[in-house]
Amino acid sequence: MLLTLSTTHQPASDLGYLLHKHPARFQSFELSFGKAHVFYPEVVTESCVACLLLEVDSVGMVRGKTAHRGFSLAQYVNDRPYAASSFMSVAIAQVFGSALGGRCEARPDLVGTSLPLAARLDVLPVRGGLQLLHRMFGPLGYEIEATQTSLDDRFPEWGDSPYYSLSICKTTTLRDLLAHLYVLIPVFDNQKHYFVGEQELEKLLAKGDGWLPDHPEREEIARRYLKFRPSLVRSALARLAEVDDSVIAEDGETDRPGEAVEALFEKPLGLNEQRIGAVLAALRATDAKRVLDLGCGEGKLLRELLPDRRFDRIVGLDVSMQVLQRAAQKLGYDRLPSQQKERIQLLHGSLMYRDDRLRDFDAALVVEVIEHLDPPRLKAFERVLFEYARPRTILLTTPNREYNGIWESLPADSFRHPDHRFEWTRAQFQDWALAIAQRYSYRVRFLPIGPEDQNVGSPTQMGVFDRDPTKA
Ligand code: SAH
Repeated sequence: MLLTLSTTHQPASDLGYLLHKHPARFQSFELSFGKAHVFYPEVVTESCVACLLLEVDSVGMVRGKTAHRGFSLAQYVNDRPYAASSFMSVAIAQVFGSALGGRCEARPDLVGTSLPLAARLDVLPVRGGLQLLHRMFGPLGYEIEATQTSLDDRFPEWGDSPYYSLSICKTTTLRDLLAHLYVLIPVFDNQKHYFVGEQELEKLLAKGDGWLPDHPEREEIARRYLKFRPSLVRSALARLAEVDDSVIAEDGETDRPGEAVEALFEKPLGLNEQRIGAVLAALRATDAKRVLDLGCGEGKLLRELLPDRRFDRIVGLDVSMQVLQRAAQKLGYDRLPSQQKERIQLLHGSLMYRDDRLRDFDAALVVEVIEHLDPPRLKAFERVLFEYARPRTILLTTPNREYNGIWESLPADSFRHPDHRFEWTRAQFQDWALAIAQRYSYRVRFLPIGPEDQNVGSPTQMGVFDRDPTKA
């Protein structure tokens, strides 16, 4: 198991100072689970490469323990000697302890200096695939290169293994790079070799200091790092939230698979807030009092509507019971005074079926929902909303596909969210909207949401539909 660290920073010997390991020496260290060796295969003027090689003694580790545990072949035959796992994190902490702790007596000035750094892990088990690698390292600003290893080159039909060879690079401090690796290696592996207790929580918070509270995947990181121990994960999130209040508002929103992919690109633009702002502004410009939020998800919009007394009936509907439960939690529904409870209701239902409960509303909000519907079933949705529920105003948003090109790290032809069935260009959305407006006697206009690019428009597009007053 090998970790390779390299830099093109000059002089190359600075990396040796920071790692506290002399470039000319081959050094070995005894660890509780085997041996670690540090050596420098390359030290030239233009670059310096340092390796941390781990030899895990999987037999030695179980010796003497089998009597009370019983025999298990997996204790002897497993991937631990070859795959980068929490052993690697332990080795980083023990062998590169001062670098990880941000200490360098000989050259303290180097600790806070950003250097062009690269790290390579040759066999990294990743439960969650390439996408997870991007979700974790992407928000930290790394360039990522990863190749998946096949199970056996001789039998291509067996497919790929869960192992990746990963290179990441960024101009950053060595301390930060090591802290990211220390926390994230076991997160990918999702398997830790030692008991996860309070101490692990402290380590996570210490090594996550300065970056984890702002990471859009902090909840997933905490959950995986702490091996799904709910009580520890809860404490971790609460403690992360103490550092930054916004974490509370958003925690859990990354829970739906893939949402973070969206967050990764959209978050820096504050697109979510802009979308909510634009929808609320358009809604307030009407005199709607009874409002539907269709596909309400975890209730981000509902939480904004509730304090505004002009809305006297607010209904959120979603097909997922799980997100409705989260919406109720986040609204603090159980603790609402009875007057408030009467104004708001959460309904379990599908936009594919006519539903009497959706009638008699002034406005319906359909925010980032249609792209989750299968195109052949879009017709059913159109009739449910425009023909049957028929509110006076409909505010409907969806991604503008043309904008995706602006996000260079979003692979071409991929969507912002794995659950999206389509993403439309502005022309496609407008054709669709104009056709249904005509069919169901609405008027529609279009508004951009988010920063507008001259050529490709804005990241989100909104259609504002007003029912033709002569055709109720
Ligand atoms: N409007 C929310 C959530 C958008 S995600 C927001 O802006 O944050 C899309 C939501 O649509 C999900 O919560 C999903 O459960 C819901 N959804 C998908 N298909 C649906 C259907 N057929 N009927 C109702 N809701 C649906």
